[in-house]
Amino acid sequence: MNHLKKPVTAVKGIGAESAAELQSFHIETVQDLLEYFPYRYEDYRVRDLSEVKEGEKITIVGTIYGEPAVRFYGKKKSRTSVKVVVDRVVVTAIWFNRHFLKDQLKSGLEIMISGKFERSRLQMTVSEHHFMDSLRMKEREGTIEPVYSTTASVTVKQMRKWIGSALDKFGADVPEILPPDLLDKYKLMPRAEAIQNIHFPASVRDGQQGRRRLAFEELLLFQLKMQAYHAVNRREADGVRQEIPLEKVAEFTQSLPFPLTNAQRRVVGEILKDMQAPYSMNRLLQGDVGSGKTVVAAIALYATVCGGYQGALMVPTEILAEQHFVTLKQLLAPFGMEVALLSGSATARQRRDILAELQSGMLNIIVGTHALIQEDVYFARLGLVITDEQHRFGVEQRRVLRDKGLHPDVLFMTATPIPRTLAITAFGDMDVSTIDELPAGRKPIETYWVKHDMFDRVLSFIRKELGKGRQAYVICPLIEESDKLDVQNAIDVHAQLSQFFADAYQVGLMHGRLHPKEKDDVMQRFSQGEVDVLVSTTVVEVGVNVPNASVMVIYDAERFGLAQLHQLRGRVGRGADQSFCILIADPKSEVGKERMHIMTETNDGFEVARRDLELRGPGDFFGTKQSGMPEFKLADVVQDYRMLEVARQEAAEMVGGTALWEEPQFAPLRRILKEDEFFTGKIRD
Ligand code: ADP
Ligand code: MG
Repeated sequence: MNHLKKPVTAVKGIGAESAAELQSFHIETVQDLLEYFPYRYEDYRVRDLSEVKEGEKITIVGTIYGEPAVRFYGKKKSRTSVKVVVDRVVVTAIWFNRHFLKDQLKSGLEIMISGKFERSRLQMTVSEHHFMDSLRMKEREGTIEPVYSTTASVTVKQMRKWIGSALDKFGADVPEILPPDLLDKYKLMPRAEAIQNIHFPASVRDGQQGRRRLAFEELLLFQLKMQAYHAVNRREADGVRQEIPLEKVAEFTQSLPFPLTNAQRRVVGEILKDMQAPYSMNRLLQGDVGSGKTVVAAIALYATVCGGYQGALMVPTEILAEQHFVTLKQLLAPFGMEVALLSGSATARQRRDILAELQSGMLNIIVGTHALIQEDVYFARLGLVITDEQHRFGVEQRRVLRDKGLHPDVLFMTATPIPRTLAITAFGDMDVSTIDELPAGRKPIETYWVKHDMFDRVLSFIRKELGKGRQAYVICPLIEESDKLDVQNAIDVHAQLSQFFADAYQVGLMHGRLHPKEKDDVMQRFSQGEVDVLVSTTVVEVGVNVPNASVMVIYDAERFGLAQLHQLRGRVGRGADQSFCILIADPKSEVGKERMHIMTETNDGFEVARRDLELRGPGDFFGTKQSGMPEFKLADVVQDYRMLEVARQEAAEMVGGTALWEEPQFAPLRRILKEDEFFTGKIRD
């Protein structure tokens, strides 16, 4: 038996009770325990003060000199400080809210303190201290200790002990899974050694090398899996091969009110090629807001219907569904195509009729929210599924379709420009098409950042634009007043603006809690120009297209992610007029201010995305749990960007040839892939 698969109770010092505790960390086997990595280290090596950088977290040893001073402030706060002499340098050690230490900090005692060191003021804010006799101190000195994320019932100390004994007994049994050539090529530590080193590094460098090896492995496995999905999917070629009359598609394209941009033309070509191929298309179409993705979708839908199939367009909100329905109907009805909207506000009867027509094949194209494919919806001949904005069309949805016996071509459209590192992780199993060009003649949106106290001027600015016949959006973070958050809410702002514009203009209110009918109504009145100012929450964030709107005001803009701000801004600048985006924000932090500056400095969604990612890291980038971003234990797709690229190339090479599928040196990797049920029966031993 593989020792590593044994339950954790095989480790010395772990009984049934501890094993139960470990289960809450999803640790069941010895292997799970060995692969529970520390998220940082406590560096207890005593440092020479002359080498320390400003603000670095360090440990020093010194002698207390003189009396501590305690100062109380606020309700329950205190600051205790004492001088500590370290190699003839006097450092001020500071503790917050630990006034009870006063009696322990005796002059002449030796103390080891760890914390953030302010070099310029020779001060340390102490996070941990030990009064030690010289003997115990020697023992502590020179060690780097792992810190694990733990709970109240399991301490870091315990975790260290358990992992330590697991390593003692089983550490040498950890098998290698990467082929030797790869280890050589990138100078990677063997797996067993890396696991030893990531937990208990003898030096910082060893720890880093251990981490490097394991992070690379993590990225490689991830990429391998994604690309193997893709390869197997293509090899199986069980998709629909659509016969598309290209002349008819060209005719349709020429009937559009504008010529396609070069980028649109290129991506249409890529999409049609996939649709004609025997495998299922699995393609991501990304393009900045306003780059014209809808018409690309319309062409693909037109093509699928000409080829004798049905098409479905799925979107995240009812508003957007309604809008796409109108657009598609306008474009496709003249060619005799039947388009229907499956809306949440349809009556049971309307719904039944639509579903029946869909099943009989009378309907060519259906538009609806993402619930569309989940429900009891049946198609006569489904050829193409397009999803627009935000949601990732993942393996799960594909499974739903396959369970219904469907293998349509799938196109996923997103207007959140995704920096390359994230694109190849979140969408590594997809082909990517990019519209990197806006239709000609667009005027760049002018973006301004103002403080709240300028609101009166913002109002007169809106009035001026309305005077020219334009319309405006005013976005608020909340629907109604909250006693927890001091931010603007749509209901109050709507009341305020209604009063301000009472003499001349109509102000509408839009938010997620309105009845679908009310939403439809206000949206329609806004798009027909009856409502001049739309006060709304972020429900209008994606896709909404009202070209006459030229002002976008965003309240408390610091509360939104940059991707989201860029989306909101994309609601204007859709017509021939100069458009404006006004961000009202009083950010407190430097990062917050920097984010506002980024928005005013660039209109390019990819640039916004790149800088946002740098500022915030990948976790926050999409701003939702539903991002489809995989979570890595060790790797960080921003920091480990180059490693990710290398892993991707190596994975592509492995998947591309026959080696991965046949050679013995890849057997461990094949075994790992086969743990995913998708590969059952598709990979040999
Ligand atoms: P998005 O990519 O954000 O979904 P849309 O598809 O809503 O963008 O297109 C934005 C606007 O640009 C629409 O009014 C659309 O009719 C128009 N449009 C799209 N393609 C072109 C083009 N090639 N030339 C001119 N206008 C275009
Ligand atoms: Mg769109």
